[in-house]
Formats: sequence, C-alpha cells, structure tokens
Amino acid sequence: MARLRDRLVAHGEIADFLLPSLQADGLALTLLFAGPSGVGKRFTALTLAQALLCERSSAGCGQCGSCLRVEQGAHEGLRVIEPEGTQIKIDQAREVLEFLQLQKISRSRVIIIDQAHLLNPQAANSLLKILEEPPEGTFIFLIAPSPSSVLSTLRSRSRTVLFRPLNETELKKIQIAPDWALKAARGSVQTLRALLEPEEQESRAEAARLLGEFLTDKDFLTASTWRGSLKEKGFFLELCRSWVGFLRDGLLMHAKGERLLMNPDQKALLTTLAAEPRALLEFFIENLFRLEAEMAFHRDPQLSMEELWVKWRDAREKMAFVSATV
Ligand SMILES: [Zn+2]
Repeated sequence: MARLRDRLVAHGEIADFLLPSLQADGLALTLLFAGPSGVGKRFTALTLAQALLCERSSAGCGQCGSCLRVEQGAHEGLRVIEPEGTQIKIDQAREVLEFLQLQKISRSRVIIIDQAHLLNPQAANSLLKILEEPPEGTFIFLIAPSPSSVLSTLRSRSRTVLFRPLNETELKKIQIAPDWALKAARGSVQTLRALLEPEEQESRAEAARLLGEFLTDKDFLTASTWRGSLKEKGFFLELCRSWVGFLRDGLLMHAKGERLLMNPDQKALLTTLAAEPRALLEFFIENLFRLEAEMAFHRDPQLSMEELWVKWRDAREKMAFVSATV
C-alpha cells in the first residue's frame, strides 16, 4: 500500500514534470509514451493516473480508496485497453467511447491504451475525435514502442514523451539478476525476466555449447550431437539470436570493449571467437541474419546449419590464405 510514484524506479522525472501541467486548470490532452518495451511506460502512466484520480492530494496519497483502486486495477475512472490477440479492435474502441459518455463520478478520467501501435485502422479512426480534444478532465495515454510505430493520425493528435531504456542499476532495483542478464536485457525489465526463465537459460547454455562445437570441431559436419537439438525451427531461431549476441561480444573484444560485453560469463567461448578475424565474425553475423530471415520460408534447420558451417569454413580458409600471402 503505497504511492505508485514511490515505486517508480526510473522516469520519476517524467512523472514529476508532467503532473503539474496535466493538473493545470481545464487542460486535457493525449500523451504518447514512446520507448522500448519493458522500460516502465505503462507503470509511469498508472503512477500519473493515481495522482490524477486521488481524492486527497494532487500528488496522489497512496492511502485513499481511489489510490488503492488504481493500484488494484479496479478504478471506476480508469480504463486500460490492450490488444486482444494481435490487435486492438473496434469493439474495444467503442468501450472507450461508452466509458466517456457515462457520467463522471471521479475527479478525472484516465484512459491508457497500451500498445497503441496495434490499434487497427477502424478502431483508431473511431477514437480520433476524442484524442484530438478529450472531454474535460479526461487524460489519455497512448503507449507504443516508437512515435513512428503509431498511425500518423494518432501521432499528430498527441504530445510525444520519449522513454529511454533502463540502466543496469535501475534494472537491478526491480529484478535481482546476474551481471550477464542485466547486460543482455538491454534496458528492458521484460527482456530481463524472460532471460531468467529456466527454459531460456537452458537454451542459451545449449546455444553456447553448440557454438563451441561449431568453432572447434573439424568434423562438425558429420558429428551427430548438434542434429538432435536442431530438429525444431523454433530452437534454430533462438540459437541464431544467441549466436549473434556471442559474436557481437567477440567483435567487442577485438575493439577492447570488454566492459560492454553482454555475455561476460562465457569468457572461454568469447576468447575463441575473438581469436578469429573481425571480417570473419562480421561475415558470420550477416549469414545468421540471412538464415534467420529465410527460416520463415520453410527452410530445414539442419540443412541451414550445414550450409552455414561450410560457408564459415571456406571463408575462414580463404582469409587465412590471404593473410598468409600478404
Ligand atoms: Zn489518494
């Protein structure tokens, strides 16, 4: 039981800056909170909602019935809309319009449209008028990954507020995690939590093991160990992503950027990678991106891995030959 503002680890400056202007007399407006997922855009919007709806204090008291109902997600003056499936549909937009037609029983009304980039065109169109000019005492927050991800008709009717990724200290306050995960999360609590799932950790460890074999086993092509893991396309895609991360770290070690490593726990693997020429690592990354994209077209993961290894081996021999003759 507390003010959400006190639990806001990052972006407090945004909340503190916006609140007085939102509370200025008669001002109602639509804000577009844009930034990477998992950095706290929705929580910041809820923090503002709590203050805007509080019955006792303009800063939000955290104690009154209204503050508690916001915290529990059950406030009569607050509506949070998010995609049902892959989009926000016209029925959900109608729900917002109906909500606004009801008599106002709270101090203000707050509408949060989470993932506003997934509003389908009909739903977005039906909301344009209220976004342009929300009824008195109504505050609308659109949440999206970037300003350009939402329809331009929505963007032009809102004031954009940009959110940055969290730094490692902020992440650590929200979620206890090992260093490698804090780095690999790239500022997103959502990514960090996903990385800590046991399944995710196992698949990352398996990806690291397979990359070690790929790099050092001269008979990789005929070895059977990796084939069992690569029956599924899904794992191949995860593997591509993990490998790109390891290769990026290999490149960083070339550039003496050790402190930026995303996988500092994989020192032995990264040292093996860093022993290879930069150009070869870049070639490897490009091929992983290509294979990842091609997986959408029903490619066989085992054949793709064979092709990748042959390309890698040929490119490596060619580079070794060139450097030996220069
Ligand atoms: Zn209160």
